[in-house]
Amino acid sequence: MSEIEHLQKELEETKKALQDREMIFNHIVESTFAGFFDWNIPENTEYLSPTFKKMFGYEDHEMESSPEAWQRIIYQEDLPKVFELFGAHVESKGKIPFDSELRYHHKDGSLVWVFCRGKVVEWDEQGNPLRMLGSHIDITNIKKSEETKLYVEKLEQKNKELQQFAYVASHDLQEPLRTIISFTELMLEQYSGNMEGNADTYLRFISDASNRMSSLVKGLLDYTRIGKNFEVSEVDTELVLQNVLSDLNTLITEKHVTFEIDSLPKIQGLDTEIRSLFMNMITNAIKYKKKGEHPLIKIGATEEMNHWKFRVEDNGIGIEKAHLKRIFLIFQRLHNKDEYAGTGIGLAHCQKIVELHGGKIWVESTPGLGSTFYFTIPK
Ligand code: ADP
Repeated sequence: MSEIEHLQKELEETKKALQDREMIFNHIVESTFAGFFDWNIPENTEYLSPTFKKMFGYEDHEMESSPEAWQRIIYQEDLPKVFELFGAHVESKGKIPFDSELRYHHKDGSLVWVFCRGKVVEWDEQGNPLRMLGSHIDITNIKKSEETKLYVEKLEQKNKELQQFAYVASHDLQEPLRTIISFTELMLEQYSGNMEGNADTYLRFISDASNRMSSLVKGLLDYTRIGKNFEVSEVDTELVLQNVLSDLNTLITEKHVTFEIDSLPKIQGLDTEIRSLFMNMITNAIKYKKKGEHPLIKIGATEEMNHWKFRVEDNGIGIEKAHLKRIFLIFQRLHNKDEYAGTGIGLAHCQKIVELHGGKIWVESTPGLGSTFYFTIPK
């Protein structure tokens, strides 16, 4: 083979290798959706790849390839950052990397976050930059999830502050309330029957109202305490239920309550809280019974995919569809205190306990026939 033929062969091979590299490069750019730019610095002309433009919603022909084109759609507050970084990159002869997170306006008006990495790849003899290559990667989703995470953290913090406030407020309110209650009782004891006009009745109103307020404040205090001692252990729900029923023995006998109880599982949870959950549901099932009928309460649990689903079913007055969600909110009651005594905290308690365990609580009901409360506890 002559030298010319040899050189020609080498040239062919180099050409093939170059084409191959170009194909790989194009494939990477296309499949990673990375945008690519090539800036001729002295002439201030710039190639912007179709993927660069696509990232901001433009077809290749819709956006010119020039420095002005991207400068028009970049978030204006981020533009000085680009020049500053470029200055530092050049000044340090490329030692300070040209890496930056920048915001752009998408054609549809939304915001696009990009990670931009650039590098001056050619310098003249005096050390002036001649050419810069760079890429853009869309990091909008990462930024969004970071923002959501921050938002959730802030919300959790606010929630903690609110809990603390409710705790302090309800705790500090107890003392003055106790004073009102004990002095009204003293006055009733000492002066009842000897006061003029309606003073007796008024005093009784004060006494009733302050006692009621005391129950509300106590309920609120208990609510803020749920889960304070976060000690998860194995809880035998069947045993817990038996304890609750024995505590409620007098009420159960008095109201002629019948129970139908399936076997219940052992779960991982907070013992005292689970006890309070059953206590609330069962006392409600007894309290909201139909007039002239004895309560029949059915309790059971079924194993589902990744949780236990418990149910407490009663044959009571039932709940209108419109109120099925509202009753779980704190202080929400469907009846006035003369009809059924209560504070409206019980079910809010139940919801907080179930959510603390990572579960859900809800109710299904037919007015006049009864209600079934469901809650799930993860396995
Ligand atoms: P409270 O019983 O102190 O009012 P809860 O938070 O336990 O507070 O319940 C909120 C409301 O939900 C009650 O006022 C009642 O109207 C309704 N409710 C709760 N349990 C039942 C039930 N088993 N049957 C019918 N209504 C119920």
